[in-house]
Amino acid sequence: MSVYLDHAATTPMLPAAQRVLVEHLARTGNPSSLHTAGRAARRVVEESRERVAASLGARPSEVVWTCGGTESDNLAVKGLFWARRAHDTSRRRLLVSAVEHHAVLDPAFWMAEHAGAELVLLPVDGDGVIELDALRAELEAHGDQAALLSVMWANNEVGSLQPLGEVVALARRHGVPVHADAVQAVGQVPVDFAASGLDALTVSGHKVGGPGGVGALLARRDLGLTPVLHGGGQERGVRSGTLDAALLASFAVAVEDAVAHQAEHAQHVAGLRDALVAGIRRAVPDAVLRGPADSARRLPANAHLTFPGCEGDSLLYLLDSAGVEVSTGSACQAGVPQPSHVLLAMGVDEDDARGALRLTFGRTSRATDVDRVLEVLPAAVDRARAAGLAGRRRAGAQTSAAASAPDVAGVR
Ligand code: PLP
Repeated sequence: MSVYLDHAATTPMLPAAQRVLVEHLARTGNPSSLHTAGRAARRVVEESRERVAASLGARPSEVVWTCGGTESDNLAVKGLFWARRAHDTSRRRLLVSAVEHHAVLDPAFWMAEHAGAELVLLPVDGDGVIELDALRAELEAHGDQAALLSVMWANNEVGSLQPLGEVVALARRHGVPVHADAVQAVGQVPVDFAASGLDALTVSGHKVGGPGGVGALLARRDLGLTPVLHGGGQERGVRSGTLDAALLASFAVAVEDAVAHQAEHAQHVAGLRDALVAGIRRAVPDAVLRGPADSARRLPANAHLTFPGCEGDSLLYLLDSAGVEVSTGSACQAGVPQPSHVLLAMGVDEDDARGALRLTFGRTSRATDVDRVLEVLPAAVDRARAAGLAGRRRAGAQTSAAASAPDVAGVR
């Protein structure tokens, strides 16, 4: 049996969410149709909306269904920016923290390239936490030009929790709406939309024990989101597209369960995480824990370490061959051999950033998973280090050969 420690990438579906999904898949009816089957599907959609809203401290009318975290983030960044600019063309600055997931960062860059936004990347400290002084300075200097601020609730790589109370208070003084990507936070820490003072919040199904391909953006009604998807006018015209009652019902069960059991879940995964980190520090003393050391300031399920002299990818494959599945960072970046933008923003140098490993726990994790990692990790680190050294030697030899080679560029 393999040990799965990549729950931040996706986590197994809750059995109850699976049952509801299968049950509803057997039914038909477009929730926008007026006949009996359509009305039955609509009832499922609206009951699911009520359940998600109640679990996350929102009103049902504040729930906009989407196909997941990526779409919710895109809708928030683009929809809020355009809505704001429609009323006030001087508001062009789009403020995002430097450690956002690519689902926020990339639309923000896209808006700068194609939609006249002025992108402002807000710095973070060595723990991956937003620098409040820099945010304050930005708002004091240019707050009247800011269209939107997006700061994630919890970072998906290093697990840092952001000081959203202070962020919202600062932004409010300057009339700037705030969006938070809470994809990793829901089910791990308490998330209450109304109490947070946020204007918009992203949640995704497959990170909380629900199905993939479904999520929501919670958005205050007075915000006026500009649609990104146009078509049949579903979701009050904010997000067109036929709704899938089965996915939504299953998603609602998962969110409800994740929120109802959040405290005991956090205790369970934090215990495993702390044992793992302590064990790794004993076995590989030069491994460096990234993100806040204080467990109250990081996600309970997250352990993130860098291993000097190792390539994270090599470690990942060596562990995988020993039956341990982990990540080097965000799953959405896997396969792209670049150091993480999150670690670089935290001031980690490129070489160290390359040796990153993220291990994340979930509902199905057990103490034996920790034992297995500690059993196989030291040898994997030794082999990854040896491979890293050999690779660097080869690269060095190639560089010196290239330096001594005659310049033949003009001949070709
Ligand atoms: N935001 C964060 C913080 C994430 O971790 C992820 C997934 O890795 C996403 C957004 C994207 O969510 P989805 O996979 O539902 O599109």
